Amino acid sequence: MSQFRLMSRTRSMSQEILVHLAPKIPEKLSSKWTRFVCVSDTHNTLDQNKYQVPNGDVFLHAGDMTGVGKVEQVQDTVNWIKNLPHKFKVVIAGNHDLTLDETFYEKNWNRFHCNKEDSKEAINIIKNAGHGIVYLNDESFTIPDKGIQIWGSPWTPEFYEWAFNGQRGQFLKEKWGKIPQTTHILMTHGPPYNMLDKTRNGESVGCEDLLERIKAIKPYVHVFGHIHEAYGALEKTWESTDQDRKKTIFVNASTNTINYEPENAAVVFDFPPLHPL
Ligand code: 5GP
Ligand code: MN
Ligand code: MN
Ligand code: MN
Repeated sequence: MSQFRLMSRTRSMSQEILVHLAPKIPEKLSSKWTRFVCVSDTHNTLDQNKYQVPNGDVFLHAGDMTGVGKVEQVQDTVNWIKNLPHKFKVVIAGNHDLTLDETFYEKNWNRFHCNKEDSKEAINIIKNAGHGIVYLNDESFTIPDKGIQIWGSPWTPEFYEWAFNGQRGQFLKEKWGKIPQTTHILMTHGPPYNMLDKTRNGESVGCEDLLERIKAIKPYVHVFGHIHEAYGALEKTWESTDQDRKKTIFVNASTNTINYEPENAAVVFDFPPLHPL
């Protein structure tokens, strides 16, 4: 896929968001723009010296940072991310990052690793990683000086009892209900229903409740992963009389393929400066 242009959706944004897929990544239009570089589902499979992460202002990782959330796997991912040149690195967990879900791990630790205390240690590593790493667990981060508001959430609909798995319906509705209406960029581990959510069987497994919430908020960009084989980007124009928010760009940034090979390039998008109304 090559570069494509997307119209801005608000009066407060005077220019278009630009999405770039490697290898065509041009220079930023100006220093006032913010370049986001998105990956997901890296699962400790990368050769960190070989896998090229384009430079930019903000690095986003949409979860499944590890194979199975072992402390050394979390540490290994943090060591890789902290050496990236981006000023901020906003990351969330996914269903494979078992130790980062304390409630899950407390009940399930003996199914996986040997130490119940691993959860506290892993959470401590990711929360206190420093080097611009910001870990979001149903919370937001506003980029200093830019005002761009990001919300991050690790939850996905239940599938084989993994971490951060939630029941479709009321449980997930409540999680998505926390996403602020003002969110510019939404990060979740999994896709919403019908947006880059097709498994290799052609089945759409994204979350309907998340799609409903997105329709209400219409974030500028939604970044996720989880369904590796649905890697890519698309834009959705909303049928709405609302003048402010007309489109959402959906990015499935899964770095690993369905065979857990880290072959997909990072997805880059440039965000225009937000102007006060
Ligand atoms: P992961 O185990 O890394 O979270 O997901 C890897 C693969 O498992 C995905 O690329 C997809 O093929 C499959 N998968 C994950 N979640 C679901 C789901 O909810 N339903 C189905 N049918 N497949 C899933
Ligand atoms: Mn994954
Ligand atoms: Mn899996
Ligand atoms: Mn996943």
